[in-house]
Amino acid sequence: MEKLGPYYIGPVTLGSLRGWILDSGLGQADTLLLHAATLENVMEEYRALYRAPMPDPYFLLGVLLEEATDMLVPEDRVVALVGDQRVGRPEYSTEPPAFVDDGSEVFRCVDCGQFVNENGEVLEQPARAYAQQLLRHRGEVATRHRSAECCRIK
Ligand SMILES: [Zn+2]
Repeated sequence: MEKLGPYYIGPVTLGSLRGWILDSGLGQADTLLLHAATLENVMEEYRALYRAPMPDPYFLLGVLLEEATDMLVPEDRVVALVGDQRVGRPEYSTEPPAFVDDGSEVFRCVDCGQFVNENGEVLEQPARAYAQQLLRHRGEVATRHRSAECCRIK
């Protein structure tokens, strides 16, 4: 196992991490370690973007993203473990991650039944798939209906 970094990659976001992973050629045997606060920001960004909690463990382009616990990684840096062989490291899997109910409300258009957000805007993937999973998990009774943009008279 080889430790690379800490590297400065600019503001640490899903986009900058993705770009850096592609540039560095990291893959499924490798891990990126982030400061706890930095990982928290990335998780918030993920939730805002996909309207679903970030899976745990989370693999970005096959690379495990993890909080640095046994070494110091500054908030604006990343450390790569190449060929990470630490005991208990989760294996990359193409299986979908275990479903997590984040407690958010599910809205559907009152007219056509499409999944929408609280503002009545039609959900795109993967938010739509997540809403479907929430429904399956909780049952139809948990759905709120809403006059939505798809069927509003313009
Ligand atoms: Zn509609």
